[in-house]
Amino acid sequence: MEIRERKQHEESFKEKLKEKWQNRRELTPKKEEASQVAVAFFFVMFFLSLLETVFVLLPTIYGGWERWIMIGVTLWMFYTTLVNWHRSYFDTANYVKPEAKEKYFPDTKETPQDWKHCFTCQVDTPPRSFHCSYCGKCMLKRVHHCFITSSCIGFHNQKYFIMFLVWSLASLGYVIYHQLMYLNKTLPVDSAGFILYIPPVTIHQLIMGYLSFGQAFLVTHVFVAIGAFITSFFFFMWHLLLAVEGATNYEAKVRKFPYKGSINANLKSIFGSVLYIPLFLIFPFKLEQQGDGIQWKLRRTHAKGR
Ligand SMILES: [Zn+2]
Ligand SMILES: [Zn+2]
Repeated sequence: MEIRERKQHEESFKEKLKEKWQNRRELTPKKEEASQVAVAFFFVMFFLSLLETVFVLLPTIYGGWERWIMIGVTLWMFYTTLVNWHRSYFDTANYVKPEAKEKYFPDTKETPQDWKHCFTCQVDTPPRSFHCSYCGKCMLKRVHHCFITSSCIGFHNQKYFIMFLVWSLASLGYVIYHQLMYLNKTLPVDSAGFILYIPPVTIHQLIMGYLSFGQAFLVTHVFVAIGAFITSFFFFMWHLLLAVEGATNYEAKVRKFPYKGSINANLKSIFGSVLYIPLFLIFPFKLEQQGDGIQWKLRRTHAKGR
C-alpha cells in the first residue's frame, strides 16, 4: 500500500515537473522574435543617430564649409555601415548545396570522410559547416549566427561582418563624440551638471521641468549609444581574434582547431588577400577570396606531412 502511494506521488510529481517545463518552454521568446527585435534595434539606432547628427548635432557644432564636410563624412560612414550590414545579411552563397559534394566527390553516394549528413537539409555537408537552427539551413564554415544582421556569418560574408563591426564602432564613436560636444554646451560635464547624465536623474529633472524633452532624450540616447559601443567593441575584438586564429565560434568554444592555418592563410581565406583589407575598409567591394569554403586542409594531414 505504501509503495503504491509513493509511486503515485512520484508520478504526479513527474507530471507537475513536465508541465512546468513545457510552460517554461512556451514562455521563452521565439527565435524569429529575438531576431526581429535585434534588427529593429539596429535600424532604430541607425536612423535616429543619422538624423540627429545631420540635423541637430552638426549644424549646432560646426559652421560654414566645415559643417558640409562633416555632413559628408557622416553620410559616408553610415552608408558604408549599411552596405556592410546588407552584405552580411542572409547570404545565400553560404548555403550548403548538393553541388558542393558533386564538385569533389561526383561519383560517391556515401557521406565522404570528415563530412556529415544533415537530415534536416538532406544534404552531405563539408567540414566546418553546421546546421543553423535559426536560419534552418546548413552553412559553409559557420562562424556564428548574428541577430543584428539576422543571418549566419560564414565563409562568404565574414569579411563584410568584420567590416560592419569596424564601421559600427567608428560611427558610434563619432556620434557619441558629437552628442557629448553638443550636450556639454548646455549641460557641462565638468561641473555639477555631470549628475544630469545619469538616466534616472535625467528623467527626474525632466519631470520636474529643469530639463527639456530634447535634452533628456539626448542624454538617454548617449547612454544607449555608449552601451552599444562597448558591446560592439567586445564583439569586434572577439571576431578579430577568430579571424586571425581562423576559427569559428564553435571551434573556439570546444577548443578544437582542426583546420587552423597560418595568420596569413586565415586572413586570405576571409579577405582573399591581406592587401584587400584596406579596400574593404573603404567600401565592401566584391573581391574574390581564397578557397571555396568546402575544402579545408586538415591539421592532422599537415602534421603527418611534417
Ligand atoms: Zn542542415
Ligand atoms: Zn543562422
